[in-house]
Amino acid sequence: MLDSVPPLAALVTAGSVLLLTAVGVVLVVGYLLGCRIWPYANCPRCNGTGKSGAPGRKAFRNCPRCKGTGRRTRIGRRLLDRTSNR
Ligand SMILES: [Zn+2]
Repeated sequence: MLDSVPPLAALVTAGSVLLLTAVGVVLVVGYLLGCRIWPYANCPRCNGTGKSGAPGRKAFRNCPRCKGTGRRTRIGRRLLDRTSNR
């Protein structure tokens, strides 16, 4: 039964796997490069304002998630920091 698979099809499958891997590597490298240049993203809790406001009032306190900085370190950047601190 296994002999019925033509070798060409196996080659094409291997080729597409290789291509997908290459595309994946390019995407990951591009993402890590982006994290190197732009290490921060807006804090998801406060949308980058750094404030956690009382509803309907002007009063606010520092966002507890980002401690008022309004930013969070991207996962890729944390990965880069960990690998470079070895
Ligand atoms: Zn925040």
